[in-house]
Amino acid sequence: VAKRLEKFKTTIFTQMSMLAIKHGAINLGQGFPNFDGPNFVKEAAIQAIREGKNQYARGHGISDFNSAIAARFRKDTGLEVDPEKEVTVTCGCTEAIAATMLGLINPGDEVILFAPFYDSYEATLSMAGAKIKCITLRPPDFSVPVDELKSAISKNTRAVLINTPHNPTGKMFTREELELIATLCIENDVLVFTDEVYDKLAFEAEHISMASLPGMYERTVTMNSLGKTFSLTGWKIGWAIAPEHLTWGVRQAHSFLTFATSTPMQWAAATALRAPDSYYEELKRDYMAKKAILVEGLEAVGFVVYPSSGTYFIVVDHTPFGLENDVAFCEYLIQEVGVVAIPTSVFYLNPEEGKNLVRFTFCKDEDTLKAAVHRMKQRL
Ligand code: GLN
Repeated sequence: VAKRLEKFKTTIFTQMSMLAIKHGAINLGQGFPNFDGPNFVKEAAIQAIREGKNQYARGHGISDFNSAIAARFRKDTGLEVDPEKEVTVTCGCTEAIAATMLGLINPGDEVILFAPFYDSYEATLSMAGAKIKCITLRPPDFSVPVDELKSAISKNTRAVLINTPHNPTGKMFTREELELIATLCIENDVLVFTDEVYDKLAFEAEHISMASLPGMYERTVTMNSLGKTFSLTGWKIGWAIAPEHLTWGVRQAHSFLTFATSTPMQWAAATALRAPDSYYEELKRDYMAKKAILVEGLEAVGFVVYPSSGTYFIVVDHTPFGLENDVAFCEYLIQEVGVVAIPTSVFYLNPEEGKNLVRFTFCKDEDTLKAAVHRMKQRL
């Protein structure tokens, strides 16, 4: 394996989902719904395939989908973007992340990352040859440590990477935090890359896009996807929105990573994004009921449950159960209890920092969540 990828193993999500199958455990690890996406979107895909929309799409996306993305962004943020010049369709947000890093970061460039962080950030930064500066968000509220950020950012910083709502903690960056980051980025001429795939799963706070803050659109790449909002994680449809001068870099990388994204799925994705507000309201209502089951359950089992404002994840402290670290706890949980969670140490540069925390997801039907809670109550 190439040196830049030597330290990365099979992703923790894949490892844990394989163990779930092997042990017949209930999988509250990898974040994928165990229920299906909406019929109107599936039908749109079937129709597109039947109509012969099956050859390469334009590299940056089919025009109908680029327009639907721009329209939703305008609705969400008030920003008017050019669907042809500022929107790029990618194979999931994961490709948008890779294309952004590879298209806009030079070897040796300094990038600031908040830990815990989604695993692909570190791997793609490593592929781009970036120098990572990591700032740790700490429980109970995982707020941004202002002084640490101020001393980390400088004229040498190329970009700050943020993820709100945040995987794995469910933290949502507050307006004050975003304004502080924005001020520092403007002062030091720094870019912001923002992963907002859980924007529609904002339960306890209002989602704020960094791009919507004054002076920020011109230095921000906003990334999102279809998978979480439409329970279609296997479709791998994502996008990046950025001003033309940044889109150029993203598209150059995208052209040679995947060139284009599945054509019929883009037609269906355009239909999805035109869903009425009631679709999003119902999604949120469903998820709030699921969240309540899991949060109450985890508290009753005896975990220290940290507040999660958005995403479909909950982070807990497992130390009341006396296992030595998060990995040992998750192994015990799979083998002796029959439930899968994600150890969070993989979300840190220094694994020690995550050793007390594990992540559970509630993107499962209510019976599955109840069954998992029941097993933990009986066997933990
Ligand atoms: N985003 C999903 C999670 O955090 C995992 C996606 C993946 O397996 N790469 O659970």
